[in-house]
Amino acid sequence: MYLSMVVPCFNEEHGVQRLYDALVEALAGEVRDYEVILVDDGSTDRTLCEARRLSEHDPRFRYVSLSRNFGKESAVLCGLRHARGNRVALLDADLQHPPRLLPRMLVLLDTGYDQVVARRSRSGDTAWRTALSRTYYRLARRWLDVSLRDGAGDFRVLSRRAVDALLSLPEHHRFSKGLFAWIGFDTGYVTYRNVPRQTGESRWRLSALVDHGIDGLVSFNDAPLRPALVLGLLTTGLGCVAGAVVRGRNRWAAGLFGLGGVQVFLLGVLGEYVGRACAEARRRPHYVVKESSPVPGPPRAVEQ
Ligand code: UDP
Ligand code: MG
Repeated sequence: MYLSMVVPCFNEEHGVQRLYDALVEALAGEVRDYEVILVDDGSTDRTLCEARRLSEHDPRFRYVSLSRNFGKESAVLCGLRHARGNRVALLDADLQHPPRLLPRMLVLLDTGYDQVVARRSRSGDTAWRTALSRTYYRLARRWLDVSLRDGAGDFRVLSRRAVDALLSLPEHHRFSKGLFAWIGFDTGYVTYRNVPRQTGESRWRLSALVDHGIDGLVSFNDAPLRPALVLGLLTTGLGCVAGAVVRGRNRWAAGLFGLGGVQVFLLGVLGEYVGRACAEARRRPHYVVKESSPVPGPPRAVEQ
């Protein structure tokens, strides 16, 4: 059994060596054959130099460097395409996904699961982020066509057929939590306590989180169009009632106010879907590769 580990790296110059040490230590005596694919997502620091250095030092460590920052989802997709193992692990470079959990996750995978997810507790997260996540998952449970679990992120091990299923999904806006849920298969869970980032800082500013959240809601259902319709009808009704009750100029003002709100809201919702349809229709590649380490043997995946 060959294990591939996919690690997206964006400005992780201080994290790469630590990751190397932690992985080698965690896997020693546990996993014999493995490769690590470091995907440099257009870092502007010395991440690429570090990746080159590591892959020269230890050929089990390979790297692919993207021509600019394409975002974590694209970097992960690139890594999955390059992974040749019949088991593939996804983990972050900042050691927030502790490599020591991998052996336990692999044992669970071998009991017959196709995905084993390490769920994290929210200890250490800021209060606003925890509150935002809770609300988001509550909404997602009600609205989405796939079921998402709080804390179940990208830290997971996948069987080859689960990876192939993921690679068969061509969409441009990749909301990976949704994609993992969409492909299905039996999923096992292990839990771990949240660990703070070891070096560098998180790229998830509030705006990026909100973008990602909307991606998820819009990619996995058509439901927002329905409340938009209902709300549209309701507000129009309210506008009519208000128009009938209030007198004089206020009547017009009430009606216009209601209608204006509904129109802007509906346009926003439609815009989300239209924007997504445009992005998918352009069919641009998800990323562009700048350079990669020499691959021993024929690669499994073909660059698109
Ligand atoms: N990352 C990436 N491209 C990006 C942003 C992040 O490849 O544009 C990588 C980053 O180097 C790390 C992982 O994705 O290995 C998770 O990023 P981060 O720690 O910023 O996210 P958080 O842990 O706060 O969710
Ligand atoms: Mg992190």
